[in-house]
Amino acid sequence: MNKKLYVISGSSGVGKGTVLKEFLKRNPDFMLSVSCTTRSPRDGEVDGVNYFFISKEEFKNCIEGEKFLEWAEFAGNFYGTKKKFINQCLEEGKDIILEIDTQGALQVKKQMPEAVLIFICPPSPEALEKRLRGRHTEDEETIRKRLKIVEEELARAQYFDYKIINDNLDNAVSELENVILGEQKNA
Ligand code: 5GP
Repeated sequence: MNKKLYVISGSSGVGKGTVLKEFLKRNPDFMLSVSCTTRSPRDGEVDGVNYFFISKEEFKNCIEGEKFLEWAEFAGNFYGTKKKFINQCLEEGKDIILEIDTQGALQVKKQMPEAVLIFICPPSPEALEKRLRGRHTEDEETIRKRLKIVEEELARAQYFDYKIINDNLDNAVSELENVILGEQKNA
């Protein structure tokens, strides 16, 4: 059976991280990709677990050395997925999930057309703003930057293979399971 790569994207604050965490709890055989970022760790985030936290200089060197499968600038910080990390997982026979922004997702699809792109949508733009503010993890300027990006991200959703509305955590997780486990059957 071929191993598959799944890309999950969605607007900031849509709760895609929570949906994904719950999916992984129920399906522990899937591997979650760990990205590199130049943003500072939030409280509780651990280097090598949530992200590889690297400097802008290091990130630039990785771009120049063509080390990234994809990378993007998001709200003033850089984020990227290392080719080596992905190739290693696929070689080890693991199905892998990337949680990245929509720009990165479309780059992955260009290079790996067999990748499955899944977009998690908010029930409404108002619900999204409320959730983003309710997290209390970002300052006002960052929240405003992220809300601006929401519109661009929703526009890119048309290029995704599947869309899941996160109006209820349990339903969204079940839908994600249906999509991924359905794809696994065809692998
Ligand atoms: P956060 O700063 O909230 O952890 O992530 C901000 C955004 O960057 C989210 O939309 C997240 O999915 C995205 N992101 C995380 N890692 C990567 C990556 O490796 N590449 C890209 N393109 N986006 C990423």
